[in-house]
Amino acid sequence: MSISVFDLFSIGIGPSSSHTVGPLRAARKFVEKIESMGLLNVTESIKVDLYGSLALTGKGHATDIAIILGLQGMSPETVDPNAVEDNIQKVRQTDTIPLLGTRDTPFQEEKHLLFHREKTLPYHPNGMKFTIFDRDGRELLSKTYYSVGGGFIVDHDHVKKDESVVAHEQKVPYPFETASDLIGLCYQHNLSLDKLVMENEKAFRSEEEVISGLLNIWKVMKECIERGCAQEGVLPGGLDVSRRAKGIHEQLLQHQKNGLIRPTDVMEWVSLWALAVNEENAAGARVVTAPTNGSAGVIPAVIKYYDEMVENSSEEGIVRIILVAGAIGILYKTRASISAAEMGCMGEVGVACSMAAGGLTAAMGGSIEQIENAAEIGMEHNLGLTCDPIMGLVQVPCIERNTMGAIKAINASLLALRGDGCHRVTLDQVIDTMRQTGRDMMTIYKETSLGGLAVNVPEC
Ligand code: SF4
Repeated sequence: MSISVFDLFSIGIGPSSSHTVGPLRAARKFVEKIESMGLLNVTESIKVDLYGSLALTGKGHATDIAIILGLQGMSPETVDPNAVEDNIQKVRQTDTIPLLGTRDTPFQEEKHLLFHREKTLPYHPNGMKFTIFDRDGRELLSKTYYSVGGGFIVDHDHVKKDESVVAHEQKVPYPFETASDLIGLCYQHNLSLDKLVMENEKAFRSEEEVISGLLNIWKVMKECIERGCAQEGVLPGGLDVSRRAKGIHEQLLQHQKNGLIRPTDVMEWVSLWALAVNEENAAGARVVTAPTNGSAGVIPAVIKYYDEMVENSSEEGIVRIILVAGAIGILYKTRASISAAEMGCMGEVGVACSMAAGGLTAAMGGSIEQIENAAEIGMEHNLGLTCDPIMGLVQVPCIERNTMGAIKAINASLLALRGDGCHRVTLDQVIDTMRQTGRDMMTIYKETSLGGLAVNVPEC
């Protein structure tokens, strides 16, 4: 199984990659399956069961909406965020869902979309089961999928092989499982890290397509920042969280106009960019998973920092950031997890911080050892970070947490670039530590909203 950088940076919608994008993909996969088996035309009813973390925080993370969109055959990449509300209202008002956009089927959420808050399936905390029935109520097909973080889904039938349905059969020229493999391969083949990742990506698409695809990812990230800086009002979900990005943006622009230059400006701008993306994510708008939706603001904010605040920045440097960040993300995905239901927020904002730190260091001309060091620092100081979103919404602490992740990533890169690449803790060691810490962490701190801020802060 190979993973492409494009699997980690996929264009989708908010607010959650594991609870929105993954379930949407799974629902679509299921209806495509029933069509390919010739069962769509004889399907008279459908039932969807959600388990574990999906059931506990699914409402706040829009899992119900994602399932309804996916059953209609929509995909996260193409769904129009502005049309979602009307679509969902139509299904709710008519009590009917057009499966794969064609087969009208009765659908009442209280009967056909069930949240099993007390039960978790054995393989993964984010489990979901889809079942269809014929006119006599006989079961025609049932399939179980798991949303394992970052929008990746796994079919239960493939669990033994641990194959993700969005990973690829193609073999890459430089396969790696550890950071030490990566470093060794770079030396052995006399390649910089970004060039090595590019060679692997060429197993999936041409170099021109890789570069234009990565620049398109950056374009979508940038548009998300711009949109976030222009929106105001209260975020949906009932927690009454006001958007702050627009007001901060206006204040910072005013300071600039007045010729005010303060030592904290860089921090404020970087924070603003992360804030803008995560407010958009919380509103269910178009975002890029990086590597998840909850952590979608860290990498765009760091790229924007590079683009706007680093002398001699270039498109080539931006491509390098995304390629190297992607390689680091693949290490976490394969050696630990990018699912908050398994790792807490270490698996989201922690991983994004590590990826951004390594990517930025590569763009700044750091050595492979300095890149590894930056990525290691980026995770080391996120170890133990819990996931406890209030009301299960990807808002508090998520939005501000991205600002912290972005600033920390830049600092990690600066620290690494000041050194000679020698360091005591390796990236592999910190990934192992993260995996073990995630396993030891109590379930209440892993995207269940049963502990931490979620129980200590009144909901209104
Ligand atoms: S606390 Fe972190 S991991 Fe949990 S939902 Fe928020 S951003 Fe995601």
